[in-house]
Amino acid sequence: MGLLENIIKKVVLEAAIIEHKEKISASVYKIRLKSESIKKADFKPGYFLRLGIGIGNDNLSMKDKVRSYSVWDINQTEGYLDIAIATDSKGIGSQWVANCLVGETVYFKWKKGNFLLDETAESYLMIGDLSALSHLYILNRNLPNNKQVESILYSESQSAFFDDIGGSKPFNRYYLKQNPINEIIKKVKKITPKLKENKIVYIAGDSRVCVALNKYFRNELNWSAKQIKTKPFWNPDKKGLE
Ligand SMILES: Cc1cc2nc3c(=O)[nH]c(=O)nc-3n(C[C@H](O)[C@H](O)[C@H](O)COP(=O)(O)OP(=O)(O)OC[C@H]3O[C@@H](n4cnc5c(N)ncnc54)[C@H](O)[C@@H]3O)c2cc1C
Repeated sequence: MGLLENIIKKVVLEAAIIEHKEKISASVYKIRLKSESIKKADFKPGYFLRLGIGIGNDNLSMKDKVRSYSVWDINQTEGYLDIAIATDSKGIGSQWVANCLVGETVYFKWKKGNFLLDETAESYLMIGDLSALSHLYILNRNLPNNKQVESILYSESQSAFFDDIGGSKPFNRYYLKQNPINEIIKKVKKITPKLKENKIVYIAGDSRVCVALNKYFRNELNWSAKQIKTKPFWNPDKKGLE
């Protein structure tokens, strides 16, 4: 490990132990990270981690040493958090999660971003693929019970979906090929007239879907920028988006 990497590891990143690893669907792993620092973290639903999956691996470029993963659940009393990693990419993050072992140390940094819980609307529409499911789950769990929540969560495979913490299935699941813009728009057309006034849409996952839907909500449905929350999690032409 180079000097710079050693400094980053010790000064910039926090350490956690992999306390639990479980394959929760045909292509998704749940990982529980435990650390004293999680107890003291200033956390809000929507925060994510920059996980140093390749720190210490000299065969990887700097770009491939880190990947972002959303916090799916957190227990600050016990000092642990859960993330859910989809493996459809077959990339370095996907290989890491398949091979990592309980008891190993992993290094991470907190990220806040702006894809966060916004409780100001009366109704919500959640749209995303498997990579975004845990992020949308935690936002949904933290919305007050009186909010209307509609959803379009999609995957190519039925066996790839996983339930939320506690086994609940709050979202509608659809089996669609990658980048299914037209199918999603058809469903959006049916759902949006049923949404109560003062609405917000969360769109995450495939960047092509985020871009196309952002355009559709703005130009065709005339929603304001404040009502459309998008976060590209991956892009077919890029590796490790953020
Ligand atoms: C804020 C944020 C939060 C994120 N949270 C999560 C999360 O909670 N869970 C999660 O699984 N991912 C999440 N991601 C995506 C994650 O950071 C990685 O980009 C993803 O896991 C792919 O990394 P990789 O190293 O396996 O593949 P890469 O080496 O980055 O990519 C290899 C190839 O696979 C493609 N690819 C990447 N992701 C997918 C996919 N889901 N389906 C199909 N093809 C894909 C890429 O376009 C590329 O062509 C998040 C991203 C961001 C920006």
